[in-house]
Amino acid sequence: MRTEFRFCPACGAGLQPRLVEQRQLPACPQCEFVAWPDPKVAVAAIVEDEAGLVLAIRRGADPGQGQWALPGGYLDADETPAQAAARECLEETNCLVVMDSLACIHHVLTREGGLLVLAYSGRLVGGPATPTEEAPELAWFAPRDLPELGFSSHRQAVDAWLRGVPQVI
Ligand SMILES: [Zn+2]
Repeated sequence: MRTEFRFCPACGAGLQPRLVEQRQLPACPQCEFVAWPDPKVAVAAIVEDEAGLVLAIRRGADPGQGQWALPGGYLDADETPAQAAARECLEETNCLVVMDSLACIHHVLTREGGLLVLAYSGRLVGGPATPTEEAPELAWFAPRDLPELGFSSHRQAVDAWLRGVPQVI
């Protein structure tokens, strides 16, 4: 579930509901803090090797443990989305990847709140891909033979990439 603030993270006062821009939000009565329900940002990577095969992983942890997925994960505050996508590829599969273009922007409401997924396409520049704890199984597939991917955002990204048209959902 989404974490709800009960105390102000700036000054420690108990938060109280306040009408802000026509929304009832937890707000601090002593300072300017308002608990805006900001979305989280995640990235995903469609990685091609020299033969045009695409990398998919079986996820080692939730969300989606055991399901096929693209490499990806949450964005850190101090990196660009493309850097995050390349970092996730390295962490999950030991692949060095260069991101080339945006394939899809996908928005979904989860139990935790809003989630924005930015999917990039890129290419393998160093490997080989090897399994990790985060991705205990991985394989290269012809793009149209990819297994069923567990996340709708990843399926939409591959569809958009195959059509050659970036998609905003
Ligand atoms: Zn405060």
